[in-house]
Amino acid sequence: MANSTFFESTRDSKSPNRNISPITTQINVNGGLDIGGCTLSELASRYGTPLYVLDEETIRASCIAYRESLKKYYPGPSLALYASKANSSLIMSSLIASEGMGLDAVSEGELLTAINGGVPVEKIVFHGNNKSDQELYFACQNGVTIVIDNQYDIDRLEKIIPTINRSVNLMLRFTPGIECHTHEYIRTGHLDSKFGFDPDQLETVLKKLVDSKWANLSGLHAHIGSQIFELQPHEDLVAVMVDALILAKQIGHSIKDLNVGGGLGVRYIESDDPPSISDWVKAISNKLVQECKKRDIKLPRLMCEPGRSLIASAGVTLYTIGSQKNIPGIRSYISVDGGMSDNPRPITYQSSYHACLVDRVIENADQTVTIAGKHCESGDVLLKDFCLPETRSEEILGVFGTGAYNFSMSSNYNRIPRPAAVIVNKGHSEIVQRRETPEDLLRLDVLPDRFIGLN
Ligand SMILES: *Cc1c(COP(=O)(O)O)cnc(C)c1O
Repeated sequence: MANSTFFESTRDSKSPNRNISPITTQINVNGGLDIGGCTLSELASRYGTPLYVLDEETIRASCIAYRESLKKYYPGPSLALYASKANSSLIMSSLIASEGMGLDAVSEGELLTAINGGVPVEKIVFHGNNKSDQELYFACQNGVTIVIDNQYDIDRLEKIIPTINRSVNLMLRFTPGIECHTHEYIRTGHLDSKFGFDPDQLETVLKKLVDSKWANLSGLHAHIGSQIFELQPHEDLVAVMVDALILAKQIGHSIKDLNVGGGLGVRYIESDDPPSISDWVKAISNKLVQECKKRDIKLPRLMCEPGRSLIASAGVTLYTIGSQKNIPGIRSYISVDGGMSDNPRPITYQSSYHACLVDRVIENADQTVTIAGKHCESGDVLLKDFCLPETRSEEILGVFGTGAYNFSMSSNYNRIPRPAAVIVNKGHSEIVQRRETPEDLLRLDVLPDRFIGLN
């Protein structure tokens, strides 16, 4: 399909997770691509490459979709929390706060980023299957809600909470025993998972906690995995969670919150077809209302934790094309100035992406190429067997759908500095993450005195 019709045909501005590119994507009069009113190749020459570009309107549209859908389909109280591991930064924390959402974090670094970015502590939830003492203290002292994941959490909280001069809200995470079709590494709801209490232990743990003076259990949590295209597993999850809620109530806990996690998929390539945000929210809301009616219980506060579906399609990564290698009859390689250090998803999960030459989007893509990164790994390939027009060195390539799990999973492999990130909106671009320099990478290296001056 020609790229011009391609960008139009995938456009769903109310549910950005169904788009490959940001919702503000426009083909300009020169046949190049604009996002947030900014021409991508101009951003590349102004800020350098590789460059992460984030479209503010797309992020806000996703937040609004979650917020408004919850309001429309769920008659009880609700709160959407951004799963910040998808992209943890001051700018994301600030945007999330301004949209009235909450946030979930899994480390002291993510907590600090959320708090410094202005997310109110009452709306922050702290997860993790192996939290450190220091992290638990930090979370308790700051008034963040803590998700108890295992017995080791309980053992330490029992000591920490009585020494804290404020009440600490607790949620309990359990493994719901639900299978879903997604990559093995991002599946979390089946019984063989490192996260949460086994359902068989739930009753014992709930009984133990109800007798503990220090524990104020206010919610239950479960999460079945990521990049899920089906609604059914999420509906099944709601039913399992209502069972757990009733059990907890019978044992004597006053549970107010039911947190169903995240997992809604996004469209990386044309054949991906995730549900819209509103259909996802509608499905879990209807199921929860129906189950609560059936069991005659009050509606809990419905919480969900979107990560990927909130930010993936808002991001585009710009690269400069460098060397090219054609192996006749086998493969044409085009190398770019980044790769697995700024986007480890292809080498980790065999993920696919869509890309284009940002100045020549409407030209016929008649060459099949493989786009490789610059790292010393043969597996450092961003797109395999992808169609592009005949490509010249120095041209700018844009890879779509890189807003989630790219910057947050980036590394300095081969001592390659991390890219800069800019946010674009209405023709303006602003740096939100400075580009690392090779000197930055030496900042924490230490050469012991006895090695100095030897060589
Ligand atoms: C990763 C994760 C999420 C977010 O998942 P997405 O698929 O990115 O929406 C939400 N909750 C928990 C506990 C997670 O680990």
